[in-house]
Amino acid sequence: MPVLKNMINRGHEQVVYFNNPKIGLKAIVAIHNTILGPALGGCRMWDYDNENDALIDVLRLSKGMTYKAAIAGLNLGGGKSVIIGDAKKNKTAELFESFGEFINSLGGRYITAEDVGTTEEDMEFVQRKTSYVTGVSKQLGGGGDPSPVTAYGTYIGIKASADYKLNVSSLAGLKIIVQGVGSVGESLISHLCHDGADVYINDIDIEKMNFVSNKYDVKIIDVEDMYSFEADIYAPCALGATVNDLTIDKFKCSIIAGAANNILLDPLKHSLELMNKGILFAPDYVINAGGLINVANEIEGYDENKVKLKTEEIYDTLLNIYKISDKEGIPTSEASDKLARQIISKKHNSELSQV
Ligand code: NAD
Repeated sequence: MPVLKNMINRGHEQVVYFNNPKIGLKAIVAIHNTILGPALGGCRMWDYDNENDALIDVLRLSKGMTYKAAIAGLNLGGGKSVIIGDAKKNKTAELFESFGEFINSLGGRYITAEDVGTTEEDMEFVQRKTSYVTGVSKQLGGGGDPSPVTAYGTYIGIKASADYKLNVSSLAGLKIIVQGVGSVGESLISHLCHDGADVYINDIDIEKMNFVSNKYDVKIIDVEDMYSFEADIYAPCALGATVNDLTIDKFKCSIIAGAANNILLDPLKHSLELMNKGILFAPDYVINAGGLINVANEIEGYDENKVKLKTEEIYDTLLNIYKISDKEGIPTSEASDKLARQIISKKHNSELSQV
């Protein structure tokens, strides 16, 4: 696959390959855009079928990070890295130390963190070789697990969406479905229950689902009823692509707002269809930015209160996106992309005018 052509198509600045045969490390770093600041994004470890799949993944994910950081109001660009390998079998301390040396050689243009297949512990090995790493434990000066902050931001985003669409200032009594009760889902449920929402849950992990239903005042919903259930809000917190051709006609909710990444299988098509059905969609990279805000804050020295205040900005950001969407008659995801591009080009123009 021609790498440069793919970079040009997606607007990437830099792609770097790294190979350490002694350790068995094969990695790619993609830096999409650094106009707002150094590129921050997690390191995914995945057993890709081939090199092409790894490249496409890192290009796609790093571009998404540019939009996510811009809309969250962070002075950061978009980047991501992938380590090609089986996270269950191929992890060693040496692998992540070698990865840390590689990241260090980029001189701070890219800052890494944990992602699918990597953990806080892995980042501690990376930290032995570079300071360009976030997502490490609180004991080592980091912000720890970002999931509770992602959940808090999602809760704030749900409140903003209910305010805009249903004209209510409280979630009390609203029927809310939470799909996936993992790290983010469970923490979100605690906020929703605290506000007196009528919460319905489902998870493919029966044990976890029962644990959560015993811990909180929630009801379990059948997986078959998940999409057609008459609720006010559907909050996907499991996998992406749950809004697709098979589910979209079933939804009876007023709002779709959850933490899962890439909720829309086909963003252009499904965002338009949701708009035409009158369902308000909270763009996922806006509502789930709490985790990024949390790791980004580590760069300046972790401050929990600052993280909370920054995460609460998701409320006004979403209201702004919804207003643009209504005013211009475009889907919310398009309004959000447009706003992110404006933020980046504004900085770009002001930098150019200073030269
Ligand atoms: P997790 O692995 O802790 O939880 C996911 C849960 O979803 C698990 O309990 C799993 O059993 C369940 N699940 C999987 N498939 C399901 C299905 N078909 N139906 C019902 N339940 C299903 O993950 P997490 O960290 O809680 O993340 C949840 C989502 O939020 C993911 O899409 C993730 O990419 C996204 N996200 C997470 C963060 C974060 O800080 N953790 C940040 C941004 C986005």
